[in-house]
Amino acid sequence: MAEREKILILGGTREAANLAAELVAAGHDVTTSLAGRTAEPEPVAGKTRIGGFSGNGRSGTEGLADWLTENGFTRLIDATHPFAKQISENAEAAARLTGIAFEHHTRKPWQQQPGDTWIEVASLEEARDAIPANARVLLALGSQHITPFATRPDVHFVIRMVDPPAIPLPFASHELVLGKPSSMVAEEKALLQRHGITHIVCRNSGGSGAYAKIEAARALGLPVIMVGQD
Ligand code: NAP
Repeated sequence: MAEREKILILGGTREAANLAAELVAAGHDVTTSLAGRTAEPEPVAGKTRIGGFSGNGRSGTEGLADWLTENGFTRLIDATHPFAKQISENAEAAARLTGIAFEHHTRKPWQQQPGDTWIEVASLEEARDAIPANARVLLALGSQHITPFATRPDVHFVIRMVDPPAIPLPFASHELVLGKPSSMVAEEKALLQRHGITHIVCRNSGGSGAYAKIEAARALGLPVIMVGQD
């Protein structure tokens, strides 16, 4: 075996969990860091720590640099979601500060395929404004990103989120679908049909875990309002 390393993975994605499993199986000492956004995160191989690194007068970058040094890590891997920009910036800066070996695992954005009807937009606000009047929309964005859509009382939103909301949602007409997206196209298709969805709003996060809804939309000829990565 190559030399045993002490590795911190910034996670919160399926890819990060897969990587943790691989690196643990290869004999490394692996800790995965989660932001703490979901109440019951799925277990990952190795150790887990939860929560941001800022506090006690230290910024997120400084806090992460301290954590890495104090705990003797030899490698930092950023395998966070492509839309998690802040933690990725902090990771790069913390690696510079500490001189620790650093890798950033990115996912390629999805590319439009024959049969896809995408309305490509640059922001959540543009996505909201692109929804036609009286549409029935699957909002597949995660709970942190849905607020801009509350200013569309003409639209019925089917909102998918992992955990139930802590406070009532400010939508005129909505239903909740709790849980993670299915990776099965047939299940995503059935969901779209059951709710009479006319449009999907999502972000182009790439990867395979959330792609089934795109394939389901293609099969049903439904338009996808796709927020791009900047
Ligand atoms: P973000 O905007 O880039 O980060 C905001 C702050 O959250 C960071 O400054 C950091 O706080 C803390 N943080 C983020 N990721 C962390 C991690 N892995 N470990 C410890 N602290 C972390 O991040 P976000 O978009 O809120 O995403 C949060 C997490 O959810 C990420 O780990 C990401 O992989 C996962 N996730 C995000 C999305 C998404 O749509 N953005 C989707 C699926 C999963 P401090 O500054 O205090 O250190």
